[in-house]
Amino acid sequence: MSVPSPWRADFPIFSAHPELHYLDAAATAQRPSEVIEAIGAFQSGGNANVHRGIYRLAEDATSAYEAARDTVRAFLNAVSLQEIVFLPGATAGMNFLADTWGRQNLNSGDEIVISEMEHHAVIVPWTELARGLGVKIQVAPLTADGQLDMDAYRALLSPKTKLVLVTAMSNVLGTAPDLAQVGAAAHEAGALFFTDAAQAAAHARLDVQALPVDALVFSSHKVYGDFGSGALWMRPEQLAALPPYQRGGSMIRSVSWEAVEYLDAPHRFEAGTANVVAAIGFAAGLRYLERAWANGAQAHETRLLEDLLERLGAEEGVRVFGPPSTAARGPIVSFTLERVHPHDLAQVLDEHGVAVRAGHHCTQPLHRHLGIPATARASIGVWNDSSDIDALIEGIRDARERFVR
Ligand code: PMP
Repeated sequence: MSVPSPWRADFPIFSAHPELHYLDAAATAQRPSEVIEAIGAFQSGGNANVHRGIYRLAEDATSAYEAARDTVRAFLNAVSLQEIVFLPGATAGMNFLADTWGRQNLNSGDEIVISEMEHHAVIVPWTELARGLGVKIQVAPLTADGQLDMDAYRALLSPKTKLVLVTAMSNVLGTAPDLAQVGAAAHEAGALFFTDAAQAAAHARLDVQALPVDALVFSSHKVYGDFGSGALWMRPEQLAALPPYQRGGSMIRSVSWEAVEYLDAPHRFEAGTANVVAAIGFAAGLRYLERAWANGAQAHETRLLEDLLERLGAEEGVRVFGPPSTAARGPIVSFTLERVHPHDLAQVLDEHGVAVRAGHHCTQPLHRHLGIPATARASIGVWNDSSDIDALIEGIRDARERFVR
């Protein structure tokens, strides 16, 4: 099967590196020309600080920044701009939630249910907070094929559960849990449900009005935008009740020596100078992604995923992790090659021009559960085509020849 990508030509990285087979979208997406141009256009023709100046250039920059917020709002089908907070990324979003909502709402004896496949960006802020507060962490286990074990998950929920943290897509297994079921069960137990959409946002529609989710975070650089931006979405009634995260300029209504009054959401959560360039790149990335989806990019990625799973599954000595069905997962596939360390494998693949990630992918507890220290991971973006998978398979065969005798 040969699957070409009509989007590949949009990415200048492949003109700079014609031999590159970039299978590391899960680490960061490549940037399409229009995102690079949108960033350049702001820097060369629109640069000014936002929410400050009363001259035209600054007002236009403020409009562009708020228009970027509206693009994020529309992408998530959120109701209002007040629900969208710009932060540096998904990690910042999870730290924000732990430091604000967590500190305000959790007490000794409470419980948090957290899935076994979470990224360190979720595990570290919440487990550290929980340890300090005397909150118990309940780990929701996975089935043998890397899906959330829904029965075991439900059994962990109780009146003590205040929060459920389950990723919208695992960055290792590709698993895409049924968020509707996860959230509904959390709500039945009286808990809130926050999800890490850092990976899911690049591959699946996340409609916050339709999903029983209370907060969601994701990063711009994985959805075709630039580094340095990301968004937190939270139900407005929850967000409005939160204390500020950081304090300083741009987030206050009035300041005296005696008292400070803060602005409403979202500005009360965006202290200091905003990363306007990153927000503009973020919005340009989302516009690009929306258009790619409208032109069939999700089906394209699924075709490549099917091909990738089938061909990896047929390779001698290759063990593939995560759900076998493409219905339950996104285009992120971790695997090992018998008797070859993933780092060695990645190095051989690099000689074939294939960029994959190797390591624990910031999920040490998951790798401990899998019983291995590391995996190699191939992940797909809209630019990928069959030649990338051909090169991957060739590289794996070469590594096997060289290392396995
Ligand atoms: N969660 C998941 C599932 C991720 O893959 C990542 C990025 N590796 C993050 C959170 C953190 O995102 P960022 O580094 O952009 O803050």
